[in-house]
Amino acid sequence: MEHTCEVIVDIAHANVDRLYTYLVPQDMLVQVGSHVLVPFGNGNRQREGFVIRVIEAAEKPTEPDEKGPTPVSLKPLLRIIEPYPILTPEQIELAYWMQKSYYCLLVDALRLMIPAQMRGSKIKEKIERTIQLAKPDEVDAQLLSLLDKSGKPRAPKQYEVLETLKTTGIEMTVSDVLAYVPDAQGAISALIKRGYVVEGGHVTFRRPNISALTVDKQVTLNADQQHAVDAITAAMEAKSGTLLLHGVTGSGKTEVYMHAIERCLASDRQAIMLVPEISLTPQTVGLFQERFSDGIAVLHSRLSAGERFDEWRRIRLGKARVAVGARSAVFAPMQNVGLIIVDEEHEGSYQSETVPRYNALDVATYRAKQFGAPLLLGSATPSLLSYYRALSGRYQLLELPGRVQNRPLPEVEIIDMRQEFQAGNNGIFSGKLAQYLGECLERGQQAMLFINRRGYSTFVSCRNCGHVVLCDDCDISMTYHKGENRLRCHFCGSVKPLPTKCPACGKPFIKYFGIGTEQVEEALHNLFPKAVTLRMDTDTIRTKDTMQQMLGAFARGEAQFLVGTQMIAKGHDFPNVTLVGVVAADSTLLIPDYRSTERTFQLLTQVAGRAGRDETPGRVVIQTYSPAHPAIRFAKGHDYKSFYTYELEQRKKAIFPPFSLFIRILFSSDDESALASGVSAYAEQLKLALDERLGDAGKKDILLYSASPAPIKRKQRAYRYQILIKLLRTARLSSAIQTIYTFAADHRDELFAMVEVNPQDML
Ligand code: ADP
Ligand code: ZN
Repeated sequence: MEHTCEVIVDIAHANVDRLYTYLVPQDMLVQVGSHVLVPFGNGNRQREGFVIRVIEAAEKPTEPDEKGPTPVSLKPLLRIIEPYPILTPEQIELAYWMQKSYYCLLVDALRLMIPAQMRGSKIKEKIERTIQLAKPDEVDAQLLSLLDKSGKPRAPKQYEVLETLKTTGIEMTVSDVLAYVPDAQGAISALIKRGYVVEGGHVTFRRPNISALTVDKQVTLNADQQHAVDAITAAMEAKSGTLLLHGVTGSGKTEVYMHAIERCLASDRQAIMLVPEISLTPQTVGLFQERFSDGIAVLHSRLSAGERFDEWRRIRLGKARVAVGARSAVFAPMQNVGLIIVDEEHEGSYQSETVPRYNALDVATYRAKQFGAPLLLGSATPSLLSYYRALSGRYQLLELPGRVQNRPLPEVEIIDMRQEFQAGNNGIFSGKLAQYLGECLERGQQAMLFINRRGYSTFVSCRNCGHVVLCDDCDISMTYHKGENRLRCHFCGSVKPLPTKCPACGKPFIKYFGIGTEQVEEALHNLFPKAVTLRMDTDTIRTKDTMQQMLGAFARGEAQFLVGTQMIAKGHDFPNVTLVGVVAADSTLLIPDYRSTERTFQLLTQVAGRAGRDETPGRVVIQTYSPAHPAIRFAKGHDYKSFYTYELEQRKKAIFPPFSLFIRILFSSDDESALASGVSAYAEQLKLALDERLGDAGKKDILLYSASPAPIKRKQRAYRYQILIKLLRTARLSSAIQTIYTFAADHRDELFAMVEVNPQDML
């Protein structure tokens, strides 16, 4: 009998999300993880698939065909798509774990492991045309033959090309040769015809354009950093453990990461480092590139398809041993990982919001165990959960309590904007902030201004009747963008012209309220007409290079002010920035979410951390309408520990996470009445299933169970309803989650529902 293999076909549908057995044609070298083409279904349509298991002739398949015994006439594989297995055994194991943990399709999990464009062969290796000498020994004779009687080349270009190849003595890409000898295409063809030169072709890797904005200084670690690196090294030797590195902004965490990675590489293992997408700035990437040169591969969303494919292959083929990237880099195709780092571990962006909704921290934890690698979490403002685990001994706590070289943390001033208003100032900047901005300019230093909202205003409304202009398709107010003179929905992107009179009462009293980045930029210009301001938000950062250009310009001092959203809050290290202003600290506090205090504290601490990172001390100004709020008070004192104690107490009182867990089941449909009745029936039945599974003892585990319209009731035309469940953390928690997922899978066909464990927002 011949070999067979089990294949999962690349179709995301529950009905076919299982293994199919295929015959392996003789002399086809199939391996676990091979990307193959198979005939599928009755019509034998060609489909792509992944080989999950190869079965030697005598073995039995893992999953007997549901229709009974294996049919005698198995279909054969058609061909192998890539010469190497595109999935590693560890990735396959991980996908099975994800399928079980997130109740997702196996194929959806597998798809995360490879660049999207590999499916359907939408992207190919880039082969560069190369040429080299056909007979290096005879090149002198060949050169002579190209000379006429007087000793001058008869075909000067051919002569030059041949000479160039002789001098370099290596295979050269045609584009390199043309750089030496312009317009020599014809000459190259002629040399090939003569048989003097032969053509080749070799694979090149498209690499993102990484230009470092900072010079890599070789520093000597201070005692705290050294202690941290030693602890991480010990964990690498022990091949286990989770460590939480709590270091204030500017304490040199990055340097600790890099030293730990060096140790990891020295023991011949690979490293993965995750950073939030937003802080994957050219600055961070450039620094790593300088330190590890081509040993690193970078994975983030601003790469072109070709670059992403090639960076991934550089890892897969062992050319890069350090993967630096956003959330999805946790799936990097490595086979000998010795260390996984998650920087800014408190960031919400590690939770994927698309199917399968995985949490990169959980996946990192699993992968670390899989490889016997320690997991290093780092932050200036650890999530409550991680810090809680560190204090309880589950994680090893490493601390960098001060900035490097004893630089002081910046002084933070809180400005009460109510008092400003009472004193007659209704502008964007308080008197103090305006004064500091002016002084900053005079001293030739730079300032960063943070505002949480892009566009010009937060909403547009009528002064006469109070009507607020909403998106036609979503249940939220539209933002005025002055640059394009239009209103924009920040949910779905739809645009509307700015009305000249109120759509409700017809009066011409339309006004904008709330501040956005555009308005801050304008206010700066009015106040300091000579100064140059850069604005960084998703409106101005459209292409993959604009961010790099803008940060480069700011680093070179071509602008004095940088205005931006979250994008400027993290990771940046500009030595000449001595002033940071938070224009309105309240916007994140007002979001109805139990995490808004924590998030505001984290954001303010991060933003404040951008100031005074070099020798000149920095200053931070936070403008707010609620100066007494704990998030603001503790951020002023850079006091994480007091914040933690305060906030944990609040969470304990209200039984909020980490003492409980939220699950949201989100439903959407165009038909509101069908949705409303469907959801209430769903809620009733699910409750019965939960009560049955949890039993009498578990009844009190359910702290909240509600079915209602979502706070944002309409998004992109669809109505949204939700069931919100709050569960106490007990031993029964996983049974409860399982019941909810299983119920959702069983009712998949009736209503479109999405289960979110620990949703990042509940709007
Ligand atoms: P964090 O990530 O904790 O905010 P960084 O890693 O960005 O801090 O470090 C801040 C600055 O301090 C960087 O410019 C870095 O090069 C520098 N630095 C780090 N460690 C040392 C050290 N031991 N001695 C001197 N400078 C250091
Ligand atoms: Zn909309």
